[in-house]
Amino acid sequence: MTRVIITGAKGRMGQALISCAKNFRDLKIVAAIDRDDDLGAVISKTDVVIDFSSHDATPAITGLCVKNKKAIVIGTTGHSDAEKTAILKLKTKIPMVWASNFSTGVNTLFWLTRKAVEILGADFDLEIVEMHHRLKKDAPSGTAKSLAEILAAVRNQQLEKIARHGRVGIVGERTAAEIGIHSIRGGDVVGDHTVIFANIGERLELTHKASSRDTFANGALRAALWVVNQKPGLYDMQDVLGLK
Ligand code: NAD
Repeated sequence: MTRVIITGAKGRMGQALISCAKNFRDLKIVAAIDRDDDLGAVISKTDVVIDFSSHDATPAITGLCVKNKKAIVIGTTGHSDAEKTAILKLKTKIPMVWASNFSTGVNTLFWLTRKAVEILGADFDLEIVEMHHRLKKDAPSGTAKSLAEILAAVRNQQLEKIARHGRVGIVGERTAAEIGIHSIRGGDVVGDHTVIFANIGERLELTHKASSRDTFANGALRAALWVVNQKPGLYDMQDVLGLK
């Protein structure tokens, strides 16, 4: 039996995790932690922490996992560069799955996006459009950033130099190198992502639409079962799904 603590337990994802965990026979939630609870007081009871809280909470939660030699699954997004660096410093100490998206469909989209940009080559203009519910706090979504990183890596470019976050005013013609990233917010959309490959005379669009948070929750729970059997190191959902 794998024992699990959830951080961010009162949130939308925390609630989905608690509900979906009932269908996993080999997994037991031993504590549900939110903002005012003390993770340090209960962490000894668990094998793994699943974090879906807030970007500024992840470094301390990861630190507690290291101190207590517990594995972690990180689903939280929107970390600053400093927060990312603090988390990555700990990657050799414990087994860690860190993924911007835990759905099988989106991880297939990651794979297809890499393949498409490799096949289509340098002539195609690359744009990413994402839409999420009105309560989402970070933009662009972690998944959109992962998609942009895949595109930039295949083209041997540094994403921060070529990312174009929206356009307004007289911005001039589009450069061949830039990757457009556009965030739409509204209603209760769980998560839509489209990667557009546009050339003269044709356009390819790859779209994934999530209609339930259960898809992320089930993936994160599967990652928790997997990570407790791994050596210390940084893994992502492609490792969990065996897509590498
Ligand atoms: P939410 O705002 O509904 O829930 C977040 C919860 O975390 C809240 O209950 C909040 O009180 C709690 N929290 C804040 N600080 C905390 C702390 N220090 N310790 C413990 N709990 C704390 O948000 P959500 O929609 O559930 O999303 C949570 C995070 O997961 C976001 O970063 C979101 O982008 C991300 N997310 C990731 C995936 C994925 O597949 N990786 C999917 C959906 C959402």
